[in-house]
Amino acid sequence: MRAAVYEAFGGPIEVVNVPDPSPPPGGVVLEVEANGVCRSDWHAWMGHDSTIQLPHVPGHEMAGTVAALAEDVEGFVIGDRVTVPFVLGCGHCEECVSGNQQICDNQYQPGFSGWGAMAQYVALPYASGNLVRLPPDISFEAAAGLGCRFSTAYRAVSDTGAVKEGSTLVVWGCGGVGLSCVLVAAALGAVVVAIDIDEDALELATTLGASFTVLSTLGSDDVATVRGLLKGGADVSIDALGSEETAVASMRCLRKRGRHVQVGLMIGEASHADIPLDLLHSSEISMHGVHGMQAWQYQPMFDLIASRRVSLGSLVTETVDLHRGAEYLASMGSFSGTGITIVNDFSWREA
Ligand SMILES: [Zn+2]
Ligand SMILES: [Zn+2]
Repeated sequence: MRAAVYEAFGGPIEVVNVPDPSPPPGGVVLEVEANGVCRSDWHAWMGHDSTIQLPHVPGHEMAGTVAALAEDVEGFVIGDRVTVPFVLGCGHCEECVSGNQQICDNQYQPGFSGWGAMAQYVALPYASGNLVRLPPDISFEAAAGLGCRFSTAYRAVSDTGAVKEGSTLVVWGCGGVGLSCVLVAAALGAVVVAIDIDEDALELATTLGASFTVLSTLGSDDVATVRGLLKGGADVSIDALGSEETAVASMRCLRKRGRHVQVGLMIGEASHADIPLDLLHSSEISMHGVHGMQAWQYQPMFDLIASRRVSLGSLVTETVDLHRGAEYLASMGSFSGTGITIVNDFSWREA
């Protein structure tokens, strides 16, 4: 099969031929139809993830058709259109048994702990617990964004954030996951404030349903501006970027008993962020984190997408071939694109 492969962290990502995978016990091989390129892939390529073994194939936001199955797989057949969450559960640990596969003790993450979906085929374990059948009206391209950014946003807003009709929500950072939060919250009928340093990102946030946008000044004024808009603070606030500044601002813009949800990764220096824990007592705010979403929670998400006519395609700003996808991945350190780039063409390109 053709795959985008790198042999050194920060080194070239090249499209080459590698052996086809075979289905692991209980698992399947997926023929990849679409895969989203995500900043987490860039972090992995840079060597920020200790689980990665070289050579490596990135890609964790996938949709495709079942191409091969292990003998013991039930409930799926060759040709089924499916997607998966970015964290695959083992099915038997305490977390999986309690329904929290997104924090499985033995979790497998294609594109991180194993080869991913920037390839024609990818092997996926424990099909019965991890594969999600796609509704016929959701395209592979739209579905490719579901397993990471959109499903994380859905869980952060709807489940962890408990956002309902009329709730007030602030989203700090309008990249792929932040914009997905805006889209989900607007579909649920919330009043959404989107904040970012980029005017194009804010324009897209408005298109996706934000009631207010704030162009960040990267200072404490931002919190005052947001609190002014929401008269007394937000019910829920999400740090969709992952930095000390945005996490602190997110907590400070909450009303009493509000919920802060950490979605952006707090890695490197941010993992030691100086955050206002006094607010837990004085205002009884609460703090939560999310690590993706379980396969079994996809159905309510599909129901919301269908009933509120959520336009997943509006998050996809570019479709590219595998060669261009590899180049795009390597550029993500310096380039802040708007929306989601999807690889949906796995053919050879002559050099
Ligand atoms: Zn991702
Ligand atoms: Zn498990």
